[in-house]
Amino acid sequence: MNRILTHNLGYPRIGEKRELKRATESYWKGRISKPELEAAAARLRAENWRKQSKAGIDLIPCNDFSFYDQVLDTTCLLGNIPPRFRWDGNETSIDTAFLIARGQTKATDTSEATCDCQSQTVSTFASEMTKWFDTNYHYIVPEFRSDTTFKLSSSKIFDEFLEATAFGHRAKPVLLGPVSYLTLGKVQDGADFDRFELLEKLLPVYEEILAKLAASGAEWIQLDEPIFSLDLSDLQRSAIHKSYQRLRTAASGAKLIVANYFGELRDNLPLFLSLPVAALHQDAVRGVEEIDRLISGFPSDKILSLGIVDGRNIWKNDFDKSFSILEGAKEKLGPERLWIAPSCSLLHTPITLENEAELDPEIRDWLAFADEKLMELSVLARALSGGSVSAELELNRASQLGREESTKIHNPRVKARTSFIIPEDSRRKSPFSERRKLQRKKLMLPLYPTTTIGSFPQTDEVRAARAKWKKGDLSGQDYEHFLEQETRRCVEFQNEIGIDMPVHGEFERNDMVEYFGEQLEGFAFTSNGWVQSYGSRCVKPPIIYGDVRRPKPMTVRWAEFASALTNKPMKGMLTGPVTILQWSFVRDDQARDITTRQIALAIRDEVKDLESAGIAAIQIDEPAIREGLPLRQADWESYLGWAVEAFRLCSSVVRDDTQIHTHMCYSEFNDIIEAVAAMDADVITIETSRSNMELLDAFVDFRYPNEIGPGVYDIHSPRVPTVKEMENLIEKAGGLIPAENLWVNPDCGLKTRGWPEVKTSLENMVTAARNLRKNS
Ligand code: GLN
Ligand code: ZN
Repeated sequence: MNRILTHNLGYPRIGEKRELKRATESYWKGRISKPELEAAAARLRAENWRKQSKAGIDLIPCNDFSFYDQVLDTTCLLGNIPPRFRWDGNETSIDTAFLIARGQTKATDTSEATCDCQSQTVSTFASEMTKWFDTNYHYIVPEFRSDTTFKLSSSKIFDEFLEATAFGHRAKPVLLGPVSYLTLGKVQDGADFDRFELLEKLLPVYEEILAKLAASGAEWIQLDEPIFSLDLSDLQRSAIHKSYQRLRTAASGAKLIVANYFGELRDNLPLFLSLPVAALHQDAVRGVEEIDRLISGFPSDKILSLGIVDGRNIWKNDFDKSFSILEGAKEKLGPERLWIAPSCSLLHTPITLENEAELDPEIRDWLAFADEKLMELSVLARALSGGSVSAELELNRASQLGREESTKIHNPRVKARTSFIIPEDSRRKSPFSERRKLQRKKLMLPLYPTTTIGSFPQTDEVRAARAKWKKGDLSGQDYEHFLEQETRRCVEFQNEIGIDMPVHGEFERNDMVEYFGEQLEGFAFTSNGWVQSYGSRCVKPPIIYGDVRRPKPMTVRWAEFASALTNKPMKGMLTGPVTILQWSFVRDDQARDITTRQIALAIRDEVKDLESAGIAAIQIDEPAIREGLPLRQADWESYLGWAVEAFRLCSSVVRDDTQIHTHMCYSEFNDIIEAVAAMDADVITIETSRSNMELLDAFVDFRYPNEIGPGVYDIHSPRVPTVKEMENLIEKAGGLIPAENLWVNPDCGLKTRGWPEVKTSLENMVTAARNLRKNS
């Protein structure tokens, strides 16, 4: 009997111990040479291929490796280098990619080590970065102009194919498809220019690439077109049709597989099935409901690849469930026309459970990272081909059952509490207009009150002290004492310069989600579960495995300590439920909205305790509300409904005279403003300084009634904004919304900045607010 073929769409490139990060950053600092960097990368690729092959994967991806980002690599491959980088038109190199990603920074700037964002102190500014679909991976946005031209400009994809082949692997080059590439970019000049007009110039380069790969011996070539998971316009549809009519003949000798992942095909299904290619891959995890529809209409001349193993989450595959889906597919398609794969590239999962000795063994038994997922595929393929896998199936059943019944997961009290929530729990006692009067009386704030978003510089000393304490080299007591000193210095500084609503500075927090996860039940943490976020930056998301409960107060101690150091109203600082959910691996055995509600109840308890401790203003950060938006517009309403509800559930527990703040980072607000207003925070602070207050328009048009702090200080740059600049921004905001609704604050937290620049910048900010008060 024919064995079902297994393949992989992409493998994590950072290395088990983040070797790529270390090598790349050393190269940037000039500590290693380019050949040394290339050698480190080659070692990683060889190891990644070896592991995949050893796991029994038949077709192994190549060109999924990247020093920075695969979309950026496509930009280099196609020679679409924005003119400001003064590219010489020759072959692009890794330096070209780094230049586009990072800009030309001044010699004094060291932002890459600590900053969340691209530095602005550049002579040539970097290309923008944005989220890859609904993941936490960020890609470098391609730029298009009506006069953009394309030219084959990199040998990376060919080199890596030959490299893999030389090791004896059956390698499948992976490339972002032309229509997704155009869709994911940004049009530079004139809104009326239709980017799909560029296809005429783009397709010949794709044809050349495919032909060249075929000539080098490629048997299969994977073109990723994840835009099939989005709402498509007629322009996009016809671009897809046109592209694949052209490309079908380009790779004579090689066969094409077009891959969709991250969502259902829905109304795009007929177009997807009509593609004139040899194989189609669909995400069978997120698209599980559609599989029957997909198979029943599946053309008889194509292979269907089902992405049956979840590439977006870390739970063990349920073999019985997968097996029944795949058996059905095999029956209808025949074993030659069914392939199996992870749902998407494994880029979005950590690499291996091998290095997780410290994880609770019971929880570890429920998990599968990239390497384990490949083993799962291999077992499923063997099972489908009638091989003997009974031992594996038994073990898998035991894990599934163990997880289902574990007391670690199920807490009846939490479940009961979640189901007894009543509508009043999510409603403040009085409307904003009433609350505001009481808050004014209590807080006694001036016009244009000044505040910050929460964190102050996480200096090397702060990080070093935490590291020492975690290693056991610093006692708990000494660490607390150190944090107290930092907090005191921070509050005293705010007193000195006259910030109206100070914060404690968040020195005790490593990360705004991890800090809370570590104190909540239902969260687990890995030692090496890194996932690439962008470039050399990786994150280690917490794992939400069970019902969430707050055993004891989490932040009250620091809020109280800080509050005692000032006469001003101290603002308490929490992370909101949607952000905690969004930045974690979330359990898949219950709906996301229920998990969010459990987190909201835990935060609600903290809010109540802060109020009881005398904290008069509490900020609940929700920077991830927007990024949680589903890929399809039809799903927005339901998501926004429960996301807003969760915020209201945690914030509505307070008295009318307690002021609730929220914060969102850089975000387009136009299409979510109604939901933002429904959150009903008394004050929202947002990131606006770089957009010159343009992001306020959504609030103005909506006549947003509550108070707003539009950021006037760009914290992504070490540059100190002048008093005048900030006055201008505040005045501009004052022309848009009533002055009595305005707050004055930076764009975001200050944790990536240094003290000297923060001091001057905040002094200037307070002066700007004072000057404007005098004149009004
Ligand atoms: N309170 C957090 C801080 O200041 C908010 C961070 C964020 O919005 N990403 O660091
Ligand atoms: Zn922010």
